[in-house]
Formats: sequence, C-alpha cells, structure tokens
Amino acid sequence: MTPPRGRVVVVGAGHAGGTFVTLLRQAGFAGEVVVFGDEPDPPYHRPPLSKEFLTDPLERWLRAPGFYAEQGVALRLGEAVVAVDRRAGTVTTSRGESLAYDHLVLATGAAPRQLAVPGADLDGVQVLRSLADARALRDRVRTGGPVVVVGGGYVGLEVAAAARGHGVAATVIEREDRVLARVASPALSAILRDYHVARGTAVLTGQTVRAFDAGPGGRLRAALVTDEAGGERAVPCSVAVVGVGAAPRDDLARDAGLACDAGVIVDAGARTSDSRVLAIGDVTSRPVRALARRMRLESIPSAVEQARQAVATIMGTAPEELEVPWFWSDQFDLKLKIAGVLSGPYETAVRGDPGAGRFALFHHRDGELVGVETANSAGAYMAGRRMLAARRRVDPVRLADPAAGLHELAGV
Ligand SMILES: Cc1cc2nc3c(=O)[nH]c(=O)nc-3n(C[C@H](O)[C@H](O)[C@H](O)COP(=O)(O)OP(=O)(O)OC[C@H]3O[C@@H](n4cnc5c(N)ncnc54)[C@H](O)[C@@H]3O)c2cc1C
Repeated sequence: MTPPRGRVVVVGAGHAGGTFVTLLRQAGFAGEVVVFGDEPDPPYHRPPLSKEFLTDPLERWLRAPGFYAEQGVALRLGEAVVAVDRRAGTVTTSRGESLAYDHLVLATGAAPRQLAVPGADLDGVQVLRSLADARALRDRVRTGGPVVVVGGGYVGLEVAAAARGHGVAATVIEREDRVLARVASPALSAILRDYHVARGTAVLTGQTVRAFDAGPGGRLRAALVTDEAGGERAVPCSVAVVGVGAAPRDDLARDAGLACDAGVIVDAGARTSDSRVLAIGDVTSRPVRALARRMRLESIPSAVEQARQAVATIMGTAPEELEVPWFWSDQFDLKLKIAGVLSGPYETAVRGDPGAGRFALFHHRDGELVGVETANSAGAYMAGRRMLAARRRVDPVRLADPAAGLHELAGV
C-alpha cells in the first residue's frame, strides 16, 4: 500500500503533538507535516516541572533540537492557530496566514484554572503549566518561601514535597475533606496526607482561600483562608501556587462546530465528529477501557496512546486495543504508580506497609480488580495492571497476603 500523502496540520506543540509527529514519520508518512505551537519552546516534558524543578534543569525536550527539521516537520513556534474553517479545510494563524490541511490534529492541551479571589493577580501568585511558569516558581521558591499550594491534587502535592525537600515551609490548602479527592482512593489520600505531615507539610483540608493579602510594596504576604465553620486565618506566604485543576482548551473545536462535551469528543481512533479532524491529549473527552462513559484523562500515557491512535487512523492501519489508564507521581521518596479509574463503590486490600512508604492498594468490586495504587512497589503495580487488563477475578485475602506470589495472582 502506498503511504498516504497530503498535508497534516497539528495545533499544539506539547506532549501529544510532539509524540504524534514523531510516530507519524516513524510510520512512514511521506506528506507535509506542520505543527503550530503558541509557546516559544519545542515540545518538552511537563512532569518534571512540579517534581525536580528546584534541583534539575527544567528544559527537558521531548526530542533533541534539530530533530523536527531532520524529520521534515515544520515546527512553527510562537504561532497560534486562531480559527478552523472545516468547510474550506483551512486554519488561520495568529500571523494572519491561511493554510490548507488534509488532516487536522488538535493537540491543544488544557489550561490551568485560575482562582477568582481578591489578590489573585498579586506578584507571587501563579499557576504551573508551562516552562515559563516553572522558571518563575523555581526562582520564587529558591528565595526561601514560605509556599502556599492551593489545591491538594497531584501537581500541588508534588510542589509541596519539592519545597519541603529544599527546607522551605509549605502549606497545602484543600477545599475538599481530603487531598486528591477527585483522583485517588480515600486510603491513598490518608496515606499521602500523613506522609506529608510527617515531613513538615501543613495540610489544611475543608478550607478555602478567600483572598490573597499584600504587604508593603504590594508583594504577596498571606493567603486568607476560611474553614467550613466560617473561621478565618492568614497563612503567611511569599509564593502561592494555584493548582485547582485544568480546563480543556477546546475553544477552537467548539468554534469550528465540532462535538464537544467538556473536551473534544473522540473515538478510539482519535476521530472527532469530522472525519478529517482528529484530537489527542488533554483536550479530549475519550473512551476509556472498561468504562461505559467517556472521560478526560490528563496524563502522559493517555497523550501517547492517543498519538498512536491518530497515526493508525491516518495511516489506515489497525488501531490498538485501549490501554488500562495509568499515571505516576513522585513525592518525597515515594514513586507512586496508579492504574485503572476509580468510580462507584469498591473495597480495598492493602499489601505492604504504608507507613514505611512501600505498599500497594488493590481496589476491587464484586471480585474484580478496578484499580491499583502503589508506592515503591513496581512488581505489585505491574501485577495489578495485568490483572486489570485481563479483568481477572481476584481474591482480596490473597491480594493482601505478602506470602501470595504476585506472578501467580496476575496469572503469569
Ligand atoms: C506540572 C505538571 C506535572 C505533571 N505531571 C505528570 C505526571 O507526573 N505524570 C503524567 O502522566 N502526567 C503529568 N502531567 C500531565 C501531562 O503533562 C499532560 O497530560 C500532557 O502534557 C498532555 O499533553 P498535551 O499535548 O495534550 O497538552 P500540553 O502538553 O499542554 O500541550 C498543548 C500545547 O498546545 C498549545 N496550544 C494550545 N492552543 C493552541 C493554539 N490554538 N495554537 C497553538 N498552540 C496551542 C499549548 O500552549 C501547549 O503548548 C503533568 C502536568 C503538569 C502541568
């Protein structure tokens, strides 16, 4: 079969866009490839921005500079796509250029939510998504803090752990009654909270930031926090990281009339409601293995999986089976690995010793594993992922029994 030709236009030079063009060339696509990125940098790894940002170089490129030109990929950085005309099959760029496409790939990611409270525009209050954000955060934290993190999600907890690792005071303020309320089991939330508190992070749950307060010179001085009973307190800080989630950057898609529902709706081939337009990464609302509904997965594994799906769709090759969703996070010396999506009721079998930072939480419902959350337990994580993929029946007693072999449990 002759490889498809024509022009592929990619909007977004992030993890999904950068991975997609690399895989597309590897698959033998011989046509023209143009990537627009509104950031000034080539595709880079975002996970280190909240983890090793105080110690390691921030600029961790997905591919070496020069790679894209060598591959015949036109990387147009600092240039946004501002409109899509699906009938004409063209995009319009921020420089006013109109460019035709045969396939359009939307890889526009997500934008961090801001806090709409007084003082949110003070110098020292910031979000964390881009290299520029991480550079600013590094400079601010290195001057000594204290740091306030608004939102006890993975990114916020990672920032707090990095600050504590550097000897800087850190307070996490979370509106819900537990950290990671949206994404982790109650058991993992409790373990991580204790782990943080034992290492000096102040964790305030059930509390809301009402405003940020400025000191002399207009510099950030404190976060003003309200608890559920209406009590108020000022938490001193010179840096506040707002980590309250991200919204899909699906405005281009919506303006172009593509079907969206809190993200661009795609199928397992990364196709949108228009067969010439694909979408990948954080911007999508996608099918998820073993779940009856679509959802947004904000993770590198999901972005890479969808990049592969988009390549298969364009090249006309067979799509792969959907992966079990997975994710990782590093906090202090904990290497966390998580697989599956938790929803509805489930029970938990604990293997290992959470207090010692080496454990696996196997979550099961009606004899079937629905998720696994592990720390510093690569073997248990891999076994859990295999069991999830195979939808194996599990025995909770044996899952929690360290004498029961993982290979045997995973059926390998
Ligand atoms: C601090 C941080 C830590 C993280 N840690 C982890 C982790 O440990 N593990 C994990 O699995 N995931 C992690 N993630 C999530 C992961 O980085 C994202 O899931 C991944 O980057 C998604 O890739 P993407 O290409 O969809 O979006 P992005 O990487 O955000 O790329 C989208 C790009 O498109 C650009 N863009 C948007 N609109 C336009 C337009 N109209 N024209 C041109 N360009 C446009 C954006 O500026 C951006 O550069 C982390 C994210 C952050 C922010």
